[in-house]
Amino acid sequence: MDGIPHFMVSAAIATALFPVYGWWSGLALVGGWAVDFDHYMFYVLFFRDLDPLNALRYFKGTDRIMPTFCLFHTVEFIALVTVVSFISIPLFIFSLSLVIHVFLDIFYDWRIAKSGLERFSVLVYGISIFLAVSRKNR
Ligand SMILES: [Zn+2]
Repeated sequence: MDGIPHFMVSAAIATALFPVYGWWSGLALVGGWAVDFDHYMFYVLFFRDLDPLNALRYFKGTDRIMPTFCLFHTVEFIALVTVVSFISIPLFIFSLSLVIHVFLDIFYDWRIAKSGLERFSVLVYGISIFLAVSRKNR
């Protein structure tokens, strides 16, 4: 999903939370929008290229080599942040916005992009890459 819908939803969450939590509600923009930075991290690690414009072109294009793995979108990361969010208001705001972000991504991947959901779990992604490599080596 593009960054604009994520930004708009995150800004709405931040605005709704602002009367209660003040400037901490700005963390909704981090959890709901800036968290897509992990796409860039994947691109840099996989392609050894720091150019953000190349990364944007890669994710906008249809020539992707493999499914993108996004650490901050995984159920394992979300579970960790959710547990920690019970002891911290800033982390609660971050994790609330992150959960909504990932639900939007899952809905987009499943209903619109018709792509697999393996990128949302470290375990499932690892198994799918292992199976793809072992099938290729037969
Ligand atoms: Zn995302």
